[in-house]
Amino acid sequence: MEGQVIHEIGHAIGFYHEQSRSDRNNFVTINYNNIQPGRERNYQTYTEDGDPGFDLGVFDFNSIMLYSSSDFAISANNPVMLRLDGSWIFGQRVGLSLGDVETYNYMYNPAITAVVKYTKTRDDYDWNSGSSAVEGHSTVFFYTDASRTTPLTLASPLRITARDLSTNTYYYGTVPAGVSSFYLGETWEYQVYDFGNLTYYSAGGGWMERGVGYNFQFEQL
Ligand SMILES: [Zn+2]
Repeated sequence: MEGQVIHEIGHAIGFYHEQSRSDRNNFVTINYNNIQPGRERNYQTYTEDGDPGFDLGVFDFNSIMLYSSSDFAISANNPVMLRLDGSWIFGQRVGLSLGDVETYNYMYNPAITAVVKYTKTRDDYDWNSGSSAVEGHSTVFFYTDASRTTPLTLASPLRITARDLSTNTYYYGTVPAGVSSFYLGETWEYQVYDFGNLTYYSAGGGWMERGVGYNFQFEQL
């Protein structure tokens, strides 16, 4: 039963079921007709559910988050989930797999420190009207440690969480492998006041945010 507890702790720290990976159809087949009515959601991908997430590494048949073939099946003889070759799957409940540990470390103990360094190129403020114009550029630098002593060249592409300042929406961007820094772009914010009324506002550019897989730091130069 201890393995089931670990499984539930996995959920608590943000793990989805292994079969909820967005790419799971490349590894397993799901027969929705064999699922107990009302339990279909347990076999949906996180993208089908509209949840944020990521797939780290390849599908892990040893993960403690993986179901067995007949979990939530109407009949134990008619499996819901099979490997692509038709063989049954056994979802172990003994302990974390190497892939589970790797995922945990990726989320909570990342080996990458990302430092966004921001340089203001314009900072105008009109004390009479309250109007302002701020422009700047930001670049992210990678290090192996939080104290930024050792620069890091990315061994694989890094997915970063970003925010579009014009729409204030989050999205993901990818920094390519082989670099130790990456120019994120220009940002701006303009506010024009006329007798105390905001008559014009514009903010734009991309902005990197905290995300999964890296420690995040910010520095204004
Ligand atoms: Zn579960």
